Order: sequence, then structure tokens, then C-alpha cells
Amino acid sequence: MLRREKGRLIVISGPSGTGKGTVIALLMGLRDDLCLSVSLTTRAPRPGEVDGRDYFFVSREEFERRVEEGLLLEHAEFVGNCYGTPREFVEQKLEEGVSVILEIDVQGAEQVLSSCPDSVSVFILPPSGTELERRLRGRHTDSEEKIRSRLLAAKRECAEAGKYGYIVVNDSAQAAAEEINAIITAEKCKSAYRTNLVTEVLIS
Ligand code: 5GP
Repeated sequence: MLRREKGRLIVISGPSGTGKGTVIALLMGLRDDLCLSVSLTTRAPRPGEVDGRDYFFVSREEFERRVEEGLLLEHAEFVGNCYGTPREFVEQKLEEGVSVILEIDVQGAEQVLSSCPDSVSVFILPPSGTELERRLRGRHTDSEEKIRSRLLAAKRECAEAGKYGYIVVNDSAQAAAEEINAIITAEKCKSAYRTNLVTEVLIS
């Protein structure tokens, strides 16, 4: 019996409105070795969002306490709200051999890539700037001011895409999910992570 592999950290970023959530939901349906990290945020829930499923919604004081206690793997401020990844959940899943998806912004991704350089990083690009604006406006949940700052943040984020290992264009969410699925499969097959399997074959 070949030894179970450790899980991999999969960092996925992309401007808000790029359809990351849909792509990730489809990706989760394609593999059974993945789980999604639920982030902490100080932003208010949007209609339909559920505490503990979409985010853990916390006060700024609670968020700062967790940062000070070192309970977050990374954290960042985005358009006036704080977001962060609970450390313990991620570490436990990786140990169990389950890969963990972090859907985080560019600042958070930079922190993860420097503390865990073997993370797999994917930037999801919208098909065009016009389409991005259409998707952001279509949500009908944010004020005009929020939409403008999200659009500005989106352009700044896209400029960082080259820092990621992979770029996937979300023209079709299904095709984007399949590309990320292929990336994960290829990453898991890298010889650097499988030399232990060679040893096991040789000694068995
Ligand atoms: P939204 O408010 O639209 O749900 O998320 C805004 C941005 O925050 C998105 O780019 C999303 O990927 C990012 N984000 C969500 N959770 C985290 C997190 O735990 N850490 C960081 N750094 N960014 C996050």
C-alpha cells in the first residue's frame, strides 16, 4: 500500500466579481480530495450569506484579538474590511492529506506564498474589464461607492497576476474549474512530492 500524501495549499485569487465562487464550487464537485477554508471577516453579511458557511462574521475587536494571538495564517484589509484565514483548520486538513483551497486577495496570497512556498497559486482573470464591471454591478448589493472601489481594487489585483504560478481565464466557469482541476492533478504528480513513493516501491 502506497503511503498517503500530504495535502497541498491551493491559493486562488481574482478580483471580486470575477466569478471565483462559482468556479470553486464547480471545482469542489470535480475532486474529493479538497476542502475550502472559511475565512473570518469584519464585513457585514450579504443577503443569503450564512455565518460559518460563507464566512465567520466577527467584530473588528474579535478579528484583532485573533491576529494578536497568531491564530490566522494570513490576513489583510480589503476595501475597508478585514479578512483572514484560520490557521488551525488549514494545518489539520493538510496533515489529514486533504488539500485546502484559500480564496483570498493578493495581499494574503503574498503572505501565504512566502510562508508556504510550495503552495499552488492560481489567479482567475475575468474575460475583460467590461465584463468584470457588468458582473460587479449585477450583484445589486453594493453601493456605487463600493462598486467603484472594488473596480479600482480589481484593476490593481489583475496587475499582480504574474506573481501566481498559474493564470486561468473565467470565460466559462466549467472550463475554468476543469483547468484548475488539471493544475492540481499535475502539481500532485510532481516528482518532488513523490520520491517517497519510489522508495516504497524499491523496498517492497
Ligand atoms: P468579498 O467581500 O467580495 O467576499 O471578498 C473581498 C475579497 O477578499 C476577495 O478578493 C476575497 O478573495 C478576499 N478574501 C476573502 N477571504 C479572505 C481571507 O481570508 N484573506 C484574504 N487575504 N482575503 C480574503
